Amino acid sequence: MLVQQILKSKGDGPVITIKASESIADAASILAERRIGGLIVSEDGKKVKGILSERDIVRSLALRGAVCLSETVSDLMTPNPVSCATSETADSALQKMTNGRFRHMPVIDEGVLVGIITIGDAVKARLEELAMEKDALQGMIMGH
Ligand code: AMP
Repeated sequence: MLVQQILKSKGDGPVITIKASESIADAASILAERRIGGLIVSEDGKKVKGILSERDIVRSLALRGAVCLSETVSDLMTPNPVSCATSETADSALQKMTNGRFRHMPVIDEGVLVGIITIGDAVKARLEELAMEKDALQGMIMGH
């Protein structure tokens, strides 16, 4: 299965982004309201500058306390995140996320942000693929 199909199955709502100059408090509100775990940092919704995950906020809160809430997204984000293209396989996306130990990945085609996938999306796609392969093999063995 391709990343393109994963994005399609998620529906085509816009990718939720935040500007680097916005506050961590605002980022936390968006994460809570939208019930998501990561925000793509972008000024124009097209070019990806970084990624801010709930983990970045939690880590900073534990280390430095509530003062981090008035800092900006650019202070805590991970710049230039690892990304994938719509033409990549779910397996390749899963491998990138597993190797890098992160759960979110922007999908970028020709320099433009087109979506975001999570490790949950990639695992779901792989499980569906494996179930189909199992059914096909079983069909071949049983002769139907
Ligand atoms: P996550 O597991 O996605 O919540 O993120 C764990 C850590 O990895 C946080 O510091 C994120 O900023 C960072 N991170 C998240 N996604 C990516 C990515 N695609 N590339 C690089 N770092 C990332």
